[in-house]
This record gives sequence, C-alpha cells and structure tokens, in this order.
Amino acid sequence: MSGRRFLSIGECMVELSQAGDGLLRKGFAGDTFNTAWYARACLGPDWSVDYFTALGDDAMSDEMVAFIDKAGIGTSLIRRVRGRTPGLYMISLKNGERSFSYWRDSSAARSLAADPDRLREAVESADLVYFSGITLAILPQEDATTLLAEIRRAKAAGKLVVFDPNIRPRLWSSYDVMHTTISEGARSSVLVMPSFDDEAAHFGDDSIEATIHRYRALGAANVVVKNGADGVRLNFAGDETFVPAETVETVVDTTSAGDSFNGAFLARYLETQDAPAAARFAASVAARVVSEHGALVAKEKLGLSGR
Ligand code: ADP
Repeated sequence: MSGRRFLSIGECMVELSQAGDGLLRKGFAGDTFNTAWYARACLGPDWSVDYFTALGDDAMSDEMVAFIDKAGIGTSLIRRVRGRTPGLYMISLKNGERSFSYWRDSSAARSLAADPDRLREAVESADLVYFSGITLAILPQEDATTLLAEIRRAKAAGKLVVFDPNIRPRLWSSYDVMHTTISEGARSSVLVMPSFDDEAAHFGDDSIEATIHRYRALGAANVVVKNGADGVRLNFAGDETFVPAETVETVVDTTSAGDSFNGAFLARYLETQDAPAAARFAASVAARVVSEHGALVAKEKLGLSGR
C-alpha cells in the first residue's frame, strides 16, 4: 500500500424507498457518499477511500458506519456527536414520478466542520479532497467558512481538490448566499464538475461554454460539465474535449448518474492523468448506473473489467 487517500466530505442520509404493500426499504445514500462508493468500486487497492462526515451515537448512526465500512470505505475520520442522529429522506412514487421528502434540518452532518482540528487532520491526510455544494449548504455559515479555508489550504498544498456544485436552492437561506458560497467553493478547487441543467437554471448560463468560462474565471483550472444523455464537455487547463454519453436502451433510474460519473472519472483520472479517457470510462459506468434502480449500484454490475 502506498497509502494514497481519496477523501470525500459531506452528508450520507438514511434513505427510505417504497418496497410494495406499504412497506419501506431502508438504504443509505447522499451525493458525496455516492461518489465515494463509485470511486471505491473503480480505484485499485493502492488507494484508500475515506468518508468524512458527522454522525450521532444512535443505532442508525452505528448501522450507517457499518454499511460504509462494508463498502470498503474508511470510517475512522467520521465525527460522532452525542445525542444526534443522521438525516433521513423518503422517496415517494406517484404515477411513476419520484418525489422526495427530507428530514435533515438537525442532522449530525451539519456539524461535520465544527471540530476544526479533526477536519484539518483529515484534509491533510488526503491526496484528493472531494466536496459539493450540498456539503457547503448544510453547514452553518461559520463552519462553511472553516471548511473553505481548509479546502484552500489543500489546494495551495498541491492536492487535487474537486467540487461538484450540486445546486439545491432549497438548502440555502438565499440565492445570494448560494451564489457567493458556491462560487467560493469553485474558486478554492482545482477541478469543478457541474451539471449543466443546474448551472443554466440557477446561474443563468446560456451555454456550456458559459459555465466553463465562469468557473475557470473564478480560478478552477479544470472543468467537466455534465449534460445528461448529451455527454460531457471537458476543459483541462484550456484544452477542450467533448465526450458523448453512452446509448442506454432503457433508462430505469437516473439517481446518482452525476455522482457515479464523478467517482468513476476521478478514479480513472487519478490512475492515468488522461481526462478524456477517464470521461469515456465514467460515461460507461454512469450508463450502467442509470440502467439500474437506486443510487448505489454494486461493483459487480458496473462492467469493470480487470478489477
Ligand atoms: P446529474 O445526475 O448530476 O444531473 P447528468 O444527468 O448530467 O448528471 O448525468 C451524468 C452522466 O450520466 C452523463 O454525463 C452521462 O454519462 C450519464 N447519463 C445520464 N443520463 C443518461 C442517459 N439518459 N443516457 C446515457 N447516459 C446518461
């Protein structure tokens, strides 16, 4: 083991989905955790993947830690907060349409940056640091400032800092705070991986070029813009490439398409430094993910040859 570490920072929640006859199925998911899951599935054994979050001291927090651990993702950096519980969301199905209800306002993860020493130790131990707009949105403003300062230190130290804006207006107190904080997240990163739909809707970008230009102008040297079935456009240090999505016969569930793309892309990029090849690989993994139910598709179903 050469001890290289992929660190993902954010919130993993308890997921309740319909299992028929009024029964609910329990799972665990959340954008940054999903990305860690796919990175773990795609990376070789010389990389460890760790999840950084905060959980409570209840049975559900213990179960989540056991689940993360079983996925081969490190849990030793997870902060445990007495008396707190994980966030929860429920997926409802009505005429084939999915809708989501969330109970996350007081989740333990909101205090993930409340212990700055622990946060610093975790970030310093990593070679790649991954976080998202959702990570920033759930934090009290003061803690978001603390996290961003650590992220900037990581960038200055030469680590690969990766940010998915994952814009969720409902999580933010105002559009102003959302725009400012997400822009700050991008400025503090080396690679930004937005979804064009979100950027067009919430930053008013009228083209993928506009999204790339905005994030590069902020100081992110590299940008990968995901655009669903229309593929991705990459700009790495000014070099631009388009990589198409794979054709999917039946799209079953697009949950975590972007998260899986990010995890697979980063895994391959870390090993080859070849961004277009990594994007082609990630498109194949994401195509498998949208062909299956649920956010977390088992490694065996991802078509990873040679791993
Ligand atoms: P997000 O989930 O963040 O909105 P996208 O919808 O852009 O992300 O999807 C991410 C990636 O997943 C795409 O770049 C593509 O590779 C794959 N993907 C998503 N939807 C489809 C689809 N309908 N057919 C094939 N690939 C898809």
